[in-house]
Amino acid sequence: MNERIKYASCPLCERPNIFPHKTGNCSAHALYNPVLSPTINWCKCLDCGHIFTEGYYTDEACGILFGKTHDNQRAGVGIEHNRLISSRMIEKVLPYAAEGRWLDVGFGNCSLLFTAQEYGFRPVGTDLRVDNVRIAQGFGIEAYSQDITDLALHDKCAVVSMADVLEHIPFPKPSLTAAHALLEPGGILFISMPNLENIFWDDLDKHDVNPYWGEIEHYHNFSRTRLYALLKECGFTPLRYGISERYRVCMEVIAQKT
Ligand SMILES: [Zn+2]
Repeated sequence: MNERIKYASCPLCERPNIFPHKTGNCSAHALYNPVLSPTINWCKCLDCGHIFTEGYYTDEACGILFGKTHDNQRAGVGIEHNRLISSRMIEKVLPYAAEGRWLDVGFGNCSLLFTAQEYGFRPVGTDLRVDNVRIAQGFGIEAYSQDITDLALHDKCAVVSMADVLEHIPFPKPSLTAAHALLEPGGILFISMPNLENIFWDDLDKHDVNPYWGEIEHYHNFSRTRLYALLKECGFTPLRYGISERYRVCMEVIAQKT
């Protein structure tokens, strides 16, 4: 099976100086299927420093991988515990936006939208998993199963959140550009993902227990530096850095549409 489409150039800066960086083992991943390769080859761009997989899965491979939904990504799961985590994410946004439409991209368990509604935002979500969209709609949430680059909304958003989403997207830039277009002037982007630029990450590497080199669903390992540069390239001003409580070694960044 032709399982990955190889990147001919860096998926962020589009320059061709890309070289092998590291190999990870994904055979113990919950979504792993033995018809796929048990290893992931990571590359580094010598121009912008970005680190990414050598390619992204074909539609056929995606069908095999994403036939299953992680239990913790099902809408409504862990509703009480996740409400607390979501509240702390929302409180990081409140100094910059306290009302209006909140779009969550890849809403998964839907907790961020449930909680944003409780805080007074008008929630809307998009998630590629159709069953999740149906469940969210059952809770009264406006929800779509569309890619953000195809999403058209009547009103602009005060907040767009992309929590642990960007690292799953083969080419992240068009999605950030779409988020920019969906935001009102001065609107807020909440974005989170693993950060490879800290001592904890290095320590996980040193002990060979870093889960992200074998994370079958990710195509990118961002550094804080590269994310900040990308945000600026896409028309955002980073406002504050924070640490995520949802997943290990993750950063949460608030940025403003400029
Ligand atoms: Zn690059």
